[in-house]
Amino acid sequence: MTDSQTDRSPRVPPSEHPSWVIENCAIATMDDDVEYTSGHLVVGGNRLLAVGPGPAPERYRSAAARVLDATGQLATPGLVNTHHHFYQWLTRGLAQDSHLFDWLVELYPTWARIDAPMLGAAARASLAMMARGGVTTAFDHHYVFPAGAGDLLGAEIEAARELGVRLTAARGSMDLGASDGGLPPDFAVESTEAALRATEEAVAAHHDPAPDAMLRIAVAPCSPFSVTTELMRESAALARRLGVRLHTHGSETAEESAFCRERFGMGPTEYFEETGWLGEDVWMAHCVHMTDADIAAFARTGTGVAHCPSSNARLAAGIARVPELLAAGVPVGLGVDGTASNEAGELRTELRNALLVQRLGPSRERALSARQALRLGTLGGAEVLGRREELGSLEAGKLADVVLWRLDGLGHSTIEDPVAALVLGPPAPVALSLVNGVPVVEDDTLLTADEAAVAAEARAQARRLAARAAG
Ligand SMILES: [Zn+2]
Repeated sequence: MTDSQTDRSPRVPPSEHPSWVIENCAIATMDDDVEYTSGHLVVGGNRLLAVGPGPAPERYRSAAARVLDATGQLATPGLVNTHHHFYQWLTRGLAQDSHLFDWLVELYPTWARIDAPMLGAAARASLAMMARGGVTTAFDHHYVFPAGAGDLLGAEIEAARELGVRLTAARGSMDLGASDGGLPPDFAVESTEAALRATEEAVAAHHDPAPDAMLRIAVAPCSPFSVTTELMRESAALARRLGVRLHTHGSETAEESAFCRERFGMGPTEYFEETGWLGEDVWMAHCVHMTDADIAAFARTGTGVAHCPSSNARLAAGIARVPELLAAGVPVGLGVDGTASNEAGELRTELRNALLVQRLGPSRERALSARQALRLGTLGGAEVLGRREELGSLEAGKLADVVLWRLDGLGHSTIEDPVAALVLGPPAPVALSLVNGVPVVEDDTLLTADEAAVAAEARAQARRLAARAAG
């Protein structure tokens, strides 16, 4: 993108009336690594009309509803979260010293008591926390559907609508209870038929295939150790029949690999291949314990990965082979994961954590650069959610999901490189976050919800859940 390109149009067409002109900020476009030390962005409706160096062309400035001097700020694409479990906001700080399987076994009985008001409160808190930290597209994987819990998916969808955050909501499922050799207790799982029926209904009720959709639905059975082979196969077939994406957890821990070898006689990636779960329409959370052959299979099939460094550290899962995944051409995004395994619940801090965790691995200082970390959190995320064409980079024609980070305070002072300041420095305050062209955060303050009220409601619902679990 250059000024000469943006200047080609002789006038602003009436349908592209600029609503925001943002100037004097550094810009990391994530479009072919193009960066501007000082540049401009023009937003019209829900789209970016222009991105380039220097001040905005005068025809935009004079027509804009708002002209913003963003001196001292860095503009990036909005952050895209690719893995989360909103409901876990109600069970943070528990099972503090457990690995994945022990942690799950301790928490499942509480999770199985969740209802719609609880999930609504947890979703508002999770989304508010991420939005105030620069997330513009969220993803939620909900897979606990106790009988009589009410409209759980509807509750989180309503929360995202209130908060103004773009959402992919996965209708998850579990149908392999402990009595059949699975990890969750029997009372936490559904029947295979009920799970498939409800998943199809969720897509019919909520999925919006439009390029500027604020809401998409994905199909997401939980994991090889909580889902039958039949549900894995049928879910893949259902998603392809309906034209929606597929998501699950994969290769998270050594214990999961051992489970797959014992139960299926093969590793997790071979099992996924066997059940129709490798493909361009699939992304998987974690992918920590991957062999060279597993990585090659992901690359060959275009299967994406949601890398969740804090959660992997918290549950002692290991270090995902991100440098090898990227070198092989595997699409990789970043994930907060549920806040029972990443209590911070933020994606902006995952940029830094991804870089630091990767440098503790075998690739050391060559593992991941600050710019690669930012790419994972933006364009990489858009790619694994199947939205690379419209999200993830700042380019004219793409959706106006933009974040301005304030880098002129004490925390970032003396770091000349704005991308290094954002990724390596302390969490940067959000000066402005636009989702679909609409401001959601301004001056480090969430505009779409009262944070104190969201926190109070989450506390009350967490107490209700704990009391139910104890009773
Ligand atoms: Zn997860």
